[in-house]
Amino acid sequence: LTTRLRPFTSTIFAEITELARRTGAVNLGQGFPDTDGPEGMLRVAQEAIANGVNQYPPGAGEPDLRAAISEHRSTRYGIEHDPEGEVLVTVGATEALTAAMIALVEPGEEVVLIEPYYDSYPVAVAMAGGVRRTVALRQGPDHRFELDLEALRAAVGPQTRALVLNSPHNPTGTVFTDAELAAIAEVCRENDVIAITDEVYEHLLYDGREHHPLATLPGMAERTLSISSVGKSFSATGWKIGWVCGPAELVAAVRAAKQFMTFVGGAPFQPAVAHALRHELDWVEQLRKDLQRKRDRLAEGLTEAGFDVLSSEGTYFICADVRPLGFDDGAELCRSLPERIGLAAIPVQVFCDDPDPVRHLVRFAFCKRDEVLDEAIARLHKLG
Ligand code: PMP
Ligand code: GLN
Repeated sequence: LTTRLRPFTSTIFAEITELARRTGAVNLGQGFPDTDGPEGMLRVAQEAIANGVNQYPPGAGEPDLRAAISEHRSTRYGIEHDPEGEVLVTVGATEALTAAMIALVEPGEEVVLIEPYYDSYPVAVAMAGGVRRTVALRQGPDHRFELDLEALRAAVGPQTRALVLNSPHNPTGTVFTDAELAAIAEVCRENDVIAITDEVYEHLLYDGREHHPLATLPGMAERTLSISSVGKSFSATGWKIGWVCGPAELVAAVRAAKQFMTFVGGAPFQPAVAHALRHELDWVEQLRKDLQRKRDRLAEGLTEAGFDVLSSEGTYFICADVRPLGFDDGAELCRSLPERIGLAAIPVQVFCDDPDPVRHLVRFAFCKRDEVLDEAIARLHKLG
C-alpha cells in the first residue's frame, strides 16, 4: 500500500458494523435507514430492469435524470444548471467527492476540511496527492458546534485549491448558519478557492431550518461544485446514485476523472431517481417529520440513560457526551459497547486530526424503526 493511503486501511463503519453483526448488537452506528424508500421510486427501478434498462447509460448520466436534478435545484433553490454540461451523475456522493479532488487538486496543493470531517474526505485528498488543512468546529457556550472564523481565515491562502463544506453536517448534526456560510463564501472568493459542497442531507433539517446551498451566495455559483445523492433523501443508501452540479469547466474536469474511475453507474436506478426528484418530495417531507420525532425519542432516551445530549439540527445523527456516565473516551466505549450492552455507535474522534476536543463524544444514528430505537434505549439504561 502506498504511503499516502497507509493511514486509511479500514473504515470505522466497517469495523463497528462487523462488531455489531458478530455480537448481534442493535446498530445505531453506520447511518442507514432500516425501512425502504418511496414505493413509486422502487417500482420505477423494477420496471426499468424488466424493460431492458440494463446496459451502460451515457457517460454523464441518463439525460432525463440530469434534467430532473437540474429542475430540482432550480425549483428548490433557484439555481440554474444546464443538464448538458453542468450536471454529472456519479456513483454516490462519494465518487463525486473523490473524482473532484483527483480532477482539480495538484499534488502539494492544499484542501481545507472542516473537522470533524466525513471519513472519505481526507482519503480523497490523499488520493489526489493534496495536503489537507483542517479547521475545527468548536462547541460554543450553548454547546452548538460553531465554525471558528479566525481559524478558517488563517487556514486559507494562496496554497489553497479547494474547501469542502458539509451542511447539514455529519457527524455533529450542525446546520451552518447564514453568517457562517457568508464567511466561508467570502474566504473562498478572496482566495480564489473552489468550494466543494456535500449536501447529501439537504432535505433532512429540523425545527423549521432551511438548507441554503453555498452556490446561492454572491459570487459562489461560478466556483462551487455542489454534490448530493439519493441515499439519505430517499432511503436508498445502497443504490449509490449521486450527482455533482456546477460550472461547465469544473464539471467537465470531474467527468474526466470519473470516466476512468467507474465510467458510469447503476443504469436502472437512474430513471427511478429522476422519478423520485420529481414526484416523491412529499414522501421526503414525511420522512423528515418522522426523523425529527425519532431524534427527539432517542434524545430523550439518551438523556434518561444519563448522557449529556447535544442538539441535532439536521442529518440523522445525534451526538452525546459520555462523561456523565463515568467514561472519558468515546472510542474505547464504542469498541466495548456491542459486547457490553448489545449496542453499536460511532466515536466522533475518528473524524478528526485532533481527537482531544471531541474525545468524549459518541454519535448515534436515529434513522431506525421506533421499536429498534426503543430497544437501543432499553440497552443503554444497562450502562448506568
Ligand atoms: N457525505 C456524507 C456527509 C455522508 O454522510 C455520506 C454517507 N453516508 C456520504 C457523503 C456518502 O454518500 P453516498 O452514499 O451517496 O456516496
Ligand atoms: N455515511 C454513513 C455514516 O456516516 C456511512 C457510510 C459508510 O458506511 N461509509 O454513517
